Amino acid sequence: MKITDIRFGRLRVPLKTPFKTALRTVNEIDDIVVIIKTDTGHVGYGEAPATAVITGDTLGSIIDAIRHYIAPRLIGQEIANLNHITRLIQDSMEKNTSAKAAVEIAVHDLWGQLYDAPLYQLLGGGDPAITTDITISVDYIDKMVADSLKAVERGFESLKIKVGKDLGVDIERVKAIHAAVEGRALLRLDANQGWTAKQAVYALNNLEEAGVKLELVEQPVKARDLDGLLYVTERVQTPVMADESVFDPMQAVELIRMRAADIVNIKLMKTGGISNAIKLADIAALHGVECMIGCMLETSISVAAAVHVAVAKADVITKIDLDGPSLCTLDPVDTGVLFNDSEISITDAPGLGVREIRGLEPLEVAQAWAS
Ligand code: MG
Repeated sequence: MKITDIRFGRLRVPLKTPFKTALRTVNEIDDIVVIIKTDTGHVGYGEAPATAVITGDTLGSIIDAIRHYIAPRLIGQEIANLNHITRLIQDSMEKNTSAKAAVEIAVHDLWGQLYDAPLYQLLGGGDPAITTDITISVDYIDKMVADSLKAVERGFESLKIKVGKDLGVDIERVKAIHAAVEGRALLRLDANQGWTAKQAVYALNNLEEAGVKLELVEQPVKARDLDGLLYVTERVQTPVMADESVFDPMQAVELIRMRAADIVNIKLMKTGGISNAIKLADIAALHGVECMIGCMLETSISVAAAVHVAVAKADVITKIDLDGPSLCTLDPVDTGVLFNDSEISITDAPGLGVREIRGLEPLEVAQAWAS
């Protein structure tokens, strides 16, 4: 099975409610779909969103990186040589992790098809059923409480509450949600870099003293501020999780060496795909550090890939934040991964099992390689 061509599509899906964090507001998912064709007729699918404020990737940069730097190296490569291909992808250029992730996902989809097995089985197996949390966007307190109650009614037992806007209101937001759902849902806070280290310690101490038990607090301080992250980790009882501070395995090594956080959030769009996500999970496991697996605003192509990784690495990936498909008004993609609100399961379909992508807009991108 040899790679013969790489094509692009665009997939747009409206969100049920605007996605609001300390960094941005988004109304629809708008992603690039990567379609890898082979000489056997098998087709692999990958996906990446533009997340300029976190990864620096835009829709244009994703297409350009793949067209000019990644695709030319992959045409003619045998899918069976997976490790060689992922090395070619990772070494093609600096950064551009979302573009690399989209291509790696499509290659892994084909690798599963080559051996006629669902991807998680080839990655080591596991119980193909996991449970995800759901994001509660930062908003007026009443709206956040209403959204939280709605999520609990839909069966979500973990809520990821976005904060990091205004410290005083943030504390009130969390207290109000805690009072409304107490005993029915675990609360995870995500400040998306919105606080200083001192503000984070103040807020968490305040919540802890008020009896608000949090499962974790995610990325309280700026991505580059590892010293600030360490400052918070040393001073609060609540477990601290690094998200934007850790993209790749080397950054995880540094974070763990410093003991700057208790948990690491793995995202395929930060690691540049599946190969580094697995390395990062293995490094964390070696050090006894737990991981969450998360996603950006992605549909069920790339989120399906993250589900396969989560199942195969369930011993270390103990927390799941794969709510992309649940945030959408509809799921336009049929894959081997079934998203049923908080419950996610995987069928026996080979690879990612992508069968149909409704509403996929083909993008005519001139080839920068000879096929
Ligand atoms: Mg986060």
